[in-house]
Amino acid sequence: MSELLSGKLVAESIKEETVRAVEELKKRGVEPKLKIIRVGENPSDLSYERGALKRMAGCDIKTEVLELDQGISQDDFIAELELVNKDDSVHGILIFRPLPKHIDENVVKYVVAPEKDVDCFSPINVAKVMEGDRSGFAPCTPSAVMEILGHYNIDLNGANTVVLGRSMVVGKPVSMLLLKENATVTICHSKTKDLSKVAAAADILIVGIGRAKMVNSQYVKEGAIVLDVGINVDENGKLCGDVDFEDCKNKAGMITPVPGGVGSVTTSVLAKHVIKACKLQIG
Ligand code: NAP
Repeated sequence: MSELLSGKLVAESIKEETVRAVEELKKRGVEPKLKIIRVGENPSDLSYERGALKRMAGCDIKTEVLELDQGISQDDFIAELELVNKDDSVHGILIFRPLPKHIDENVVKYVVAPEKDVDCFSPINVAKVMEGDRSGFAPCTPSAVMEILGHYNIDLNGANTVVLGRSMVVGKPVSMLLLKENATVTICHSKTKDLSKVAAAADILIVGIGRAKMVNSQYVKEGAIVLDVGINVDENGKLCGDVDFEDCKNKAGMITPVPGGVGSVTTSVLAKHVIKACKLQIG
């Protein structure tokens, strides 16, 4: 059995760091606050919201949820967002996406205040990730991948890293963050030829494709480090990743489980980002 990369341990360590930072801020009379903006009642938004509220409470970060009706117009949504932007007591804003189809994300993304945009919706933060400018906010999930690699002291310098998936939420930003740490990065997608062969050349394999258990041991080099970002439900209704954990666990050198891997670090990163936003705003 390979070494398990426990997201829970990483989350705990980020939490300790965050609790200390909150204490310091409160001594200075500042109470960090996150505002979650949710339109409608999408079950996956509600599930993430529950996890986020629990994590923020554990970190002593005040959190409010702005619940908006599924049918809210784009103009009204923007008006609500502008009020949150202007509210000095709010340091971080998380907007659940995708928004309903009648609200154009390509318009809204220019409205959210970049300095409060803790999950990289604003093009300013996207550009900062591309530039390797750490003053912005990378999306929480790719940041969680980096936190795990950092926590376990995995050397990225020159490492042959393959990322499966090229979405704006996972694949592309994680590739940029890895590049910033001097990894040699190959990005794969649904049109990549000989995918298993490309993946099996990796020292570090990051998987975010949304295909339950697709990545089996043929995709994994002996001793490789495998991080599974996928969250799916298997044929028995159980949570599983994009990696076939049972098939890969003896071949990989280190591997994240699902659940208990990358997903468990994401809300801790959110808390960390709220603190970073708060510190940037108070100067
Ligand atoms: P997405 O937007 O659907 O993107 C999937 C990516 O995988 C695309 O780039 C797609 O290629 C590629 N792909 C799909 N099928 C493939 C195949 N058979 N072979 C190679 N590449 C393939 O998904 P996402 O939002 O990035 O999410 C990816 C996974 O991460 C999902 O399981 C999701 O639930 C999970 N996730 C987890 C967290 C967390 O907190 N842990 C957060 C977000 C997402 P094309 O570009 O060519 O279509």
